[in-house]
Amino acid sequence: MGADNLLGRLAGVKSIGHGKYKARCPAHEDRSPSLSVRVLDDGRILLHCFAGCGAADVVESLGLTLDALFPDKEQGHARPTRRPYAAADLLHFVDRESLVVLVLACDAIAKQRLAEADLARVMTARARISSVIACLPA
Ligand SMILES: [Zn+2]
Repeated sequence: MGADNLLGRLAGVKSIGHGKYKARCPAHEDRSPSLSVRVLDDGRILLHCFAGCGAADVVESLGLTLDALFPDKEQGHARPTRRPYAAADLLHFVDRESLVVLVLACDAIAKQRLAEADLARVMTARARISSVIACLPA
């Protein structure tokens, strides 16, 4: 998912500098462009609505998920030749995701059932941990 895809879905997009855009926020009734979009050199996209909408609200209003704000990693195309992540960062990431799984597992044991949303989060954690493998040096 690239910046072009996201920008293509926004209305009233205006370039205001290198990797910087203003657009009408899709998450609220926006007459003047109050959404600031910043495309970082590594492909990440920062969103800020000056009316206070969250980035998740903005991307959902466009029919996208928060993944749209990050450059493609798992999809197998546009794969960077240099891995930008330090091993320690990846381990911290895996550590945090495994903590999420632990908390949800304890919760499921206490309630003797796993809520559908919690199962979905466990599956997200699994996918995220798997994606770390893709960041390891070959
Ligand atoms: Zn907004």
